[in-house]
Amino acid sequence: MSKKFWDEKCETMPVDEMEKVQLKSLQDTLKHVYNNVPFYKKKFDEVGVKPDDCKKLHDIGLFPFSYKNDLRDNYPFGLCAVPMREVVRVHASSGTTGKPITGPYTAKDLDDWSECMARTLYAQGFRDDDIVQNAYGYGLFTGGLGFHQGALKIGCAVVPTSSGLTERQIILMQDFGVTGLMCTPTYALTIAERANRMGVDFKNSPLRVGSFGAEPWTVAMREEIQAQLGIAAHEAYGLTELMGPGVAFSCEAYKLHINEDHAYPEIIDSETGESLPLGHQGELVFTSLQRRAMPMIRYRTKDITRLHRETCSCGRTLITMDKITGRADDMLIITGVNVFPSQVEAVILEFPEMQPIYQIRVMKKGYLDVMAVEAEAKRSVYEDGEEKITALTKKISDRFTQVIGIKIPITILPFNSIPRSEGKAKRIIDERNN
Ligand code: ADP
Ligand code: ZN
Repeated sequence: MSKKFWDEKCETMPVDEMEKVQLKSLQDTLKHVYNNVPFYKKKFDEVGVKPDDCKKLHDIGLFPFSYKNDLRDNYPFGLCAVPMREVVRVHASSGTTGKPITGPYTAKDLDDWSECMARTLYAQGFRDDDIVQNAYGYGLFTGGLGFHQGALKIGCAVVPTSSGLTERQIILMQDFGVTGLMCTPTYALTIAERANRMGVDFKNSPLRVGSFGAEPWTVAMREEIQAQLGIAAHEAYGLTELMGPGVAFSCEAYKLHINEDHAYPEIIDSETGESLPLGHQGELVFTSLQRRAMPMIRYRTKDITRLHRETCSCGRTLITMDKITGRADDMLIITGVNVFPSQVEAVILEFPEMQPIYQIRVMKKGYLDVMAVEAEAKRSVYEDGEEKITALTKKISDRFTQVIGIKIPITILPFNSIPRSEGKAKRIIDERNN
């Protein structure tokens, strides 16, 4: 019988023991960056705090935050805490705006990352007899190699297709008898849709599990992927700054556990920077605990969620977080109301006629921001005629008003009008500066 956990000791460690491990790692990391990264030394000195001031976990609050801009200002290797001879690989984030940010790794950092990814995939049911297709982009993006290493560590047979060439993906999945798929959730949908057009039904195939991540997606979207592909659709969360995917993962109960022996999480009020207690919604902040090449201290992820200490039915004691509602960056303020793309997605997917394929246009109207949604209906719905579309448009628009609290115009588009995603979907089209 195969074991239940990849690393039982860490994944089921009693909380007080975990906290001891975290404190020791935190103290080591603070010393490591203070002694080796002038940026951190200067920042700590400015607020008059020394690594030795960290006597208990809570003392982390004494230390200053770090931000994406700090990574940009110190591009490419200014935050590197080891000599270049110890660095064995460098990744970079796609950098949605401005310069990319870099992620250097030592050999040990790569091992640790593979461990975190192996825990992730193992918890989701990937085993050594699985044939897994890795359709995350390979290259500078951490998704491709991150998942690749984790699957190798478990002993899966990895098919490294990278993203794109969707038809070939589908043919290989069939020919090889692929049992596990790894890619972004929106690419999983693109694959499902293309398969459908090719007359391929993965529900009657060996495909049974997926590990999706790198972008926000709702529970409704997960259900849609599960239904279309006939698989358990699992989730990985991570960011380049912290190592890449593998920071958190969903278990059999679909709870997101954080690998908290590697990434220490906090939730703060993003306006005031104040720490918030468990269960409160706010910005997720991470401190690297084991990373050697580029440890981040109190890194502001801009991702919005809550943390919980709960007894999970899977048996793991690792702290959990809610699914990410969205990035603070993506939050729109429309006539004074905060709106996340995920809320729009949740409403659209209440309607079985609709697909999770949509875009949000943001425009200026005088001094105010306004938004409009364009979303695709399933093919058959559009074929039913204009009247049905008009009625559906009204129904969805009423639901926006009820759920989100503002009027949001929606246009229902015919099938295949919105570009399909091969990686992270672009949900927001910002026309405010046009
Ligand atoms: P980029 O900033 O270029 O997108 P990354 O690839 O490092 O760089 O993206 C990390 C971000 O992707 C996270 O901060 C988060 O916003 C998003 N993300 C990653 N995984 C998930 C997930 N499972 N759910 C929601 N958002 C995710
Ligand atoms: Zn669990």
